Amino acid sequence: MSDAAGSPHRVLDVELRRVRLPLVAAHTAAHGSFSERDTIVVRVASADGSVGWGECAALARPTYTSEYLDGCWAVLVAELVPGCLAGDDRGVVGHHMAKAGLEAAVLDAQARAAGVPLTSLLGIAPTGEPARVLSTAVVGLAGSIDELLATVAARVAAGHRSVKVKIRPGWDAAPLRAVRAAWPHLLLAADANGSYRDQRHALEALRDDAAVADVDLVYVEQPLPADDLRGASHLVGKLGVPVALDESISSLGDLRTAVSLGAIEALNLKAARVGGLRAAARLAQFAETVGLPVLCGGMVETGIGRAASLAVAALPGCTLPTDLGPSGNYFVEDLTDPFVLGADGCLAVPTGPGIGVEPDLGRLEDATVEHWRATS
Ligand code: MG
Repeated sequence: MSDAAGSPHRVLDVELRRVRLPLVAAHTAAHGSFSERDTIVVRVASADGSVGWGECAALARPTYTSEYLDGCWAVLVAELVPGCLAGDDRGVVGHHMAKAGLEAAVLDAQARAAGVPLTSLLGIAPTGEPARVLSTAVVGLAGSIDELLATVAARVAAGHRSVKVKIRPGWDAAPLRAVRAAWPHLLLAADANGSYRDQRHALEALRDDAAVADVDLVYVEQPLPADDLRGASHLVGKLGVPVALDESISSLGDLRTAVSLGAIEALNLKAARVGGLRAAARLAQFAETVGLPVLCGGMVETGIGRAASLAVAALPGCTLPTDLGPSGNYFVEDLTDPFVLGADGCLAVPTGPGIGVEPDLGRLEDATVEHWRATS
C-alpha cells in the first residue's frame, strides 16, 4: 500500500474515525433503508509532512455487498493499517471497501505532496478547464406514485436532467411509466439492486407484464442477484433496455467475465466496490477498449469520498451520467463545503491538489463516534 521505508511518501500516522451524519431523507433501495449515514473517514500523514483523506464507503449493514462498516473497521485495524505503516500489503484478499478508503487517503497525500489533483494520479491529463460531469439524481423506493413524482419534481427543479429510480418486484413498470409521462425528455434509468429472483422473473415483470422498453430507459441496473451473470446474459437483448451491472462486478476479472458472457451493456463503476481508485481506473480503461459505457456510481459518501469518486467520474471511459449528486441531496450538513449542482445539471470535478476539498475539522469532530490511531 505505501512505498518503501525511506520514501517521502511513507505513511507514518493513520487515524480512523467512524462518523455519523443525518440524511435529509431516508435512503431506501431494495437492499434496505437508512436515515443516517455511518462511514469511516481515514486520515494519513506521510514522512514528507503531507496529509491525505479517504473514506471507506461500506454501508453499516452488509446488505449491498458483503462488506460492512464494522468489518471494514476490524480489517483496517488488524491488517490494512499495520501493513500500510510497515509498507507491506500483507496479502489481504477481498475487503475492497476497506482497502479503497485507505488507498484514497494515501493517494490524496501523494497528490497533495506533488501539488496535483487526484485526477492526475489516475492518468487524466489537465485540460485547463475544470471537468464537469452530468449528475443523476438517484431516487429511492417511494411509498406511492405521488410521493415519487414529488421527489423527482424537486430534483428536476433543482437542475437534474438525469434521474435513476430504484425499483424492485411490484414497484417497477408503473412508477417508471409515471415518471416518463410527466417528463418525456428526462434521462431516466432504473436500479433493481439485484431484486428479481432470476431471468424468468425479470422478463415476466419487465417485459411480459409491462414492457419497460416503451419507457425509454438509459439502462436497467442489476436486475438479478450479483452472482447470476448467466442470468444477466439471458436478459441482454431480450428486455429491450440495456442491462447495467453494479453489484456483480467487483474486479477487472469479473468485468472481463461479464463481457465475455455478453452479460453487460453498461457498468456502474464504484472505486469502493472494486478495491480502490487505481483499480477503478483500470476497469474504466478496459471498458473503454471494449466499447462498454460506464457510469461512476456513488455510495452516499460524504464530501471526502465524493471528491475522490468525482475523479473516477472524470475518467474518459465514464461516458454516462454519474450517480454522484450534490451534497444537499443527501446530507443535512456535509463534512466538506457542499458540492452544488450547476445550472447545467453538472457537478464540477475539484481541481485543487489531491481530492481538492478540505474536511471541516470541527464538523468532523462533532460527527465522530469512534476514533482510533496508529503510528509507525
Ligand atoms: Mg446500483
